Amino acid sequence: MIAVDLHSHSLASRCGVHTVVEMLTRARDLGMTALAITDHGPALGGRLNSVFFERLLDPVPGVRLLKGMECNLDESPGAIDLPLDYLRYCDVVLVGLHANTPKGRSAADYTDLLVSALEANPFLDVVTHANSREYPLDYRRLARASRDLGRAVELNNSKVALGRVAPAVTESLIAACIREACPVVVASDAHTLDEVGRDEAIRSVMSSMHFPEELIINRTAEEALAFIERRRPLKLAHSAADN
Ligand SMILES: [Zn+2]
Ligand SMILES: [Zn+2]
Repeated sequence: MIAVDLHSHSLASRCGVHTVVEMLTRARDLGMTALAITDHGPALGGRLNSVFFERLLDPVPGVRLLKGMECNLDESPGAIDLPLDYLRYCDVVLVGLHANTPKGRSAADYTDLLVSALEANPFLDVVTHANSREYPLDYRRLARASRDLGRAVELNNSKVALGRVAPAVTESLIAACIREACPVVVASDAHTLDEVGRDEAIRSVMSSMHFPEELIINRTAEEALAFIERRRPLKLAHSAADN
């Protein structure tokens, strides 16, 4: 189980089925320290709302609510669909390739899109599910850029558990992270209560490849929360500049 899970979805995502309180209650019952609710940005139909970001404070005693979102990439290099008004309230901001980005391009093109988004938006913390089938990537380059820019690459549990990614592709991503010493976040990407905090599927691949524990940013709750605090000033700086 993950003590601080940095990726999950509520009803505010078109693909979510539970409320924020239901997701947090599950996290508390599991004994987790914190759960990030990271609903999709508007390009994927996410209904991010101001009450969640501005007013909702730890609605389930015993577990911390981390606020975030999972941004999508736009067509133009560096562009993301993040509503900057909410950035000041975010603990973690994820970015990933999703169905709003056209398929069928080269790994070089998709890697350019992702890396340029990281470069243009210093507040982006984690690249999600880079092992997706539809969007090939140059993993060595992504891992090197993420490391050099101080970001993390996600190793996603639910995509592996549900068989939505090819095992060889997941192994290539993990191998690149090991070779480039790129920090990673192990996250559930939970869309259902049963998936909250789960990491067994991805952990089993990682241990078969002798993944170095020191590269895991959320190896302990303390380290995960320290990562969030270290990166908070970047979010505050960009909120202030755009409001
Ligand atoms: Zn995603
Ligand atoms: Zn997600």
